[in-house]
Amino acid sequence: MTHHVLARQLDALGLGPESPPEAGDTWRRFLEAVSRTYGASGRGELDEGPRESSEDRYQRLVETAPEVILTLSQNGGSITSLNPAFEALTGWSRQEWTGRSLLPLVHPDDLAFAWKRLREVLEGKATPRFELRLRTRSGEHLHAEMVATPELDGDRVAGILGILRDVSDRKRAQEALRAAKETAEAANQAKSEFLANMSHEIRTPLNAIIGLSGLLLEQSLDEELARNLEMIRASGDALLGLINDILDFSKIESGRMMLEEQPFRLREGILGSVELVSAEAAEKGLEVQCEISPRCPEAVVGDVTRIRQILLNLLSNAVKFTDRGEVALAVTTRPVSPERLRLRFSVRDTGVGIPPERMQVIFEPFLQVDASTSRKYGGTGLGLAISTRLVELMGGRIWAESTEGEGSTFHFTVDVGRAAQDEAPKAAPAEHGGRRIDATLAQRVPLRLLVAEDNVVNQKVALSMLERMGYRADLAGDGREVLDALDRQSYDVVLMDIQMPELDGLEAARHIRGKADGPGPWIVAMTAGAMSGDREKCLAAGMDDYLSKPVRLEDLDSALARAAPIATSRR
Ligand code: ADP
Repeated sequence: MTHHVLARQLDALGLGPESPPEAGDTWRRFLEAVSRTYGASGRGELDEGPRESSEDRYQRLVETAPEVILTLSQNGGSITSLNPAFEALTGWSRQEWTGRSLLPLVHPDDLAFAWKRLREVLEGKATPRFELRLRTRSGEHLHAEMVATPELDGDRVAGILGILRDVSDRKRAQEALRAAKETAEAANQAKSEFLANMSHEIRTPLNAIIGLSGLLLEQSLDEELARNLEMIRASGDALLGLINDILDFSKIESGRMMLEEQPFRLREGILGSVELVSAEAAEKGLEVQCEISPRCPEAVVGDVTRIRQILLNLLSNAVKFTDRGEVALAVTTRPVSPERLRLRFSVRDTGVGIPPERMQVIFEPFLQVDASTSRKYGGTGLGLAISTRLVELMGGRIWAESTEGEGSTFHFTVDVGRAAQDEAPKAAPAEHGGRRIDATLAQRVPLRLLVAEDNVVNQKVALSMLERMGYRADLAGDGREVLDALDRQSYDVVLMDIQMPELDGLEAARHIRGKADGPGPWIVAMTAGAMSGDREKCLAAGMDDYLSKPVRLEDLDSALARAAPIATSRR
């Protein structure tokens, strides 16, 4: 074979003098040898001594190449030549396979594909580079990359010239990477499940702590007792906040945070958050201002709960880190498209401020300005990390400006949809935060109540709360007992725990709804599960309302107020 034929074939392989980087060092060395041999002789630099013929040089290159170089017959079926690298790579001897078909060496699963690619070469289609598995003498399969090009005799395709390279190492590395990724994903999944379970387990006793301390606080107590109880209740609330934050964070990290797209009244949503911090601000003697631009529409479409969560986090930080002066919220808007608006919220305070070098880290999870922050002000350092991710999910960003000792301003933007005129929801009744318990509800609307709960302490919590409203309720320890109780007599409302032995709350609800006689009782789920989708699961099982534990007296009161008119009409 002459020099230019080899050069043409190398070119066709994409392995000309400008060899591609993926050809690797071996190839580069090989090509350098080629160009030294041919280039040097071509330029007449090596004109001393007897010269090898081109044929000999080609032969020597083939013999010494670290890659398998093979030729296949014109019909692509049988091997016409093999170089020694074949023996090194596969363990087979060259004699064993020369003159035989290549195909028995190919892994059965790769056969059809490999054959198709070889046909393409013979038909003069693009030079294929493909992977296939080859059986070695020891019975294993090695991953090889084949570069096949037509062997030309003039213009006629006389066969195939192929180069095979062992890429098992690369394959193994890819495989290891994939396995590592799977392990990491499984670990992440396990972590999320663990968190969900932990959260459930912690919520159950918390329900008792928050519920019972709330009940006791309703009674007139001596001052010290009341203060201590207040602390128990506040610690319970703090613990609950922490669990919710960690759950949120893990949900966001695993990509399971779903945002709502619902119309809501903007002013109400914003003012609701401001109201929640106003008591604490007043206690510290701080003034709270709120300015909502008149250009903000009455209603928009988005996730009001999450927007309020971010706002509340910024507002409570502002109150927490400010000792005197004021906290001011400003909300402005501008259109980003005919359908969407950008809302911008700015929370300014006159507090301790943030040193410039800590400005970025406070947005990272679990990081605070310094280690003394958590001792002095409490908190976990998760609030801003969660807010950052929520804001990003809503197409916005969050940032802050601050002067140490003078105060900080936190800004965030979110994109929301414009609500159609008739989409604006009706003004909601006043939030139940701080609402007094209606002790006369039971007199005005007597209800027959059944509490389904397996945990003895939480049974007591529920019964005591109901008693505070003037209700007496019957008890069921699991779903089966609920069904038995309903067989004996009818109830207006069932307050149903979800995780119970024997028959859980969801199953029990399905059984109740499955019975054809009449609409049955109004069922309120009371669950310690707080993962997204829990509410939907309960409603899908036929329940009417949902309370998440810890259940507060006010929540239960509102739930019964909601239930009363419908439950009594179902009698
Ligand atoms: P947490 O408040 O639970 O510690 P955040 O993520 O909400 O967690 O805040 C992280 C840290 O950023 C806070 O601990 C505090 O050091 C700093 N920080 C946040 N808001 C303010 C503010 N308005 N003024 C001063 N420092 C702030």
